[in-house]
Amino acid sequence: MGSAASSFLGPIMGALEGESERSRLTADRLARRAKQRRQIQSMIGLCYVLDAVVLLTYAYAGTTSVSVATGYALVGLTLVAVYVLLSERGFHERFRDHYLVMPQSAISMVNLLVFTYIAPEVGVLFLCNLFVVFGFGALRTSARQTAIVWVAMVLGLAALFLWSDRPIGMPTGTKLDRLATMLVFALTIGRCMFLGMFSSAMQQSLYQSGLKLKEAYKRIEEFAELDELTGAVNRRSIMRMLGEEIARCTRNGSDCAIALIDLDHFKRINDVYGHPTGDEALRTFAISVFANIRSIDRFGRYGGEEFLLVLPGLSEDRAMGVLERLRAIVADLDWSAFSPGMKVTISAGVTTLCPGESSDTLLARADRALYTAKARGRNRIASA
Ligand code: GH3
Ligand code: MG
Ligand code: MG
Repeated sequence: MGSAASSFLGPIMGALEGESERSRLTADRLARRAKQRRQIQSMIGLCYVLDAVVLLTYAYAGTTSVSVATGYALVGLTLVAVYVLLSERGFHERFRDHYLVMPQSAISMVNLLVFTYIAPEVGVLFLCNLFVVFGFGALRTSARQTAIVWVAMVLGLAALFLWSDRPIGMPTGTKLDRLATMLVFALTIGRCMFLGMFSSAMQQSLYQSGLKLKEAYKRIEEFAELDELTGAVNRRSIMRMLGEEIARCTRNGSDCAIALIDLDHFKRINDVYGHPTGDEALRTFAISVFANIRSIDRFGRYGGEEFLLVLPGLSEDRAMGVLERLRAIVADLDWSAFSPGMKVTISAGVTTLCPGESSDTLLARADRALYTAKARGRNRIASA
């Protein structure tokens, strides 16, 4: 997107903001909106000046009078000045459409029709400008508003063409007239093309915003699934995953083992080494598990210092082997790096899925096995 188009895009994007956003406008945002209005007005002012130059060319060719050129520029620039003045005083912020596109389009339309009536000999310039005014207005107004302004314009045109008998002209009498008329078309087409570019830049930006929103939504979902402290999935997610694995293994008739893992005497670890060290221990434990399981295994925080490991496709023997290995890895870690003399061990209860079983009874059995492991002295694995 070109810088001209993108700087011009701001105002349009502003119109897409919801009411809630508007109510939270910061001073910074208000200043940016005022700046965007100033930018639009300077472009409109420039258009009036360019048109005045073309009108002066017509005047030089003797087709119209100099006062038409100066009058048109004067009225146009006065409108711009009034608009900027009101905008700087915050008048525009009182309205839902803070660009006041509807009133602006209406005033411009009346202005152009009046000038066509006053100086019909150069009517082509004013009538061509109607295209630009309505092209721009339609970008920001609703279909209903566009229809209303269009009907008003048709009535105005009808009054001009049918009710009055002013000879509306497209001067081509002299070389200079032909040059000015060519300029009228060149400027009109240029402005229409700019509006087209403007509209496609707006579409592009909307598309990009949509992509960004999608991305942000995905990240929110990811965050909602993860346990902040350990990076493992949270209880809700691991329960969902357990349900999915049970359904899959039941469908395929394959084995599925689970293990409830609990850190031993964790309350004591917190008491002796402090809660932050306890947090670090939880994190290190989770990382150690992640580093030693398969990508198809599911590991999540079941609650506090208790974790659930789902091992699809594993029999009880093989699951016991995996858990025994994890137990040894945790027990052999150099925990004294956290605090001198610190040791962390885990106990786990392992069980496998029975045909047609639900997650509730499966988890209850794993819990009983965990209780057995604790009762047998901790730092051990028990099966149901
Ligand atoms: P057991 O061997 O029987 O499991 O003993 P335990 O002390 O580990 O068991 P208990 O359930 O009595 O205590 C669990 C402790 O885990 C208590 C709680 O403060 C601690 N804990 C739970 N969540 C967190 C956490 O996120 N961070 C820290 N640092 N501690 C936690
Ligand atoms: Mg514990
Ligand atoms: Mg516990």
